[in-house]
Amino acid sequence: MSADLSELYQQVILDHNKRPRNRGKLPTANRVAHGDNPTCGDQCSVYLRLVPDAANGSDRIAEISFDGSGCAISQASASLMTTQVKGKSGAEVDALYQQFHEIVTTGNAPEEISDLAAFAGVHAFPARIKCATLGWHAAIEALKGGPEVTTETHTD
Ligand code: ZN
Repeated sequence: MSADLSELYQQVILDHNKRPRNRGKLPTANRVAHGDNPTCGDQCSVYLRLVPDAANGSDRIAEISFDGSGCAISQASASLMTTQVKGKSGAEVDALYQQFHEIVTTGNAPEEISDLAAFAGVHAFPARIKCATLGWHAAIEALKGGPEVTTETHTD
């Protein structure tokens, strides 16, 4: 493994890949979206339970989980994403994603978001950026989805 590549697989990424957080379907979900990264073969479904937040008139993520398969970057990023966006509103998730996107495309990471900064090494491997952002895209799609409960009729 080259120095650059070993730098890519930081401890945070290895840890989330080995012990994914919030993995599996969420029985109480009222939103679900699926992300697909055919370039690498990564799959990621994100399940959300959104609850109205009277304080700011928007919805907030009360519960979140993900399910999927693929490379270490995609699965670790989805796992970390679930821990970062829980409790947040759609606007807050958008803002956080902008920061994450900046990190993985430029390698520049503000210190205050140190866990997400573990993905800074991805910027040296442009083909892997889609791996790192897959879970985020699925979460943002789920947030934008209609209010109705989405039921998956196909079997995995
Ligand atoms: Zn991948």
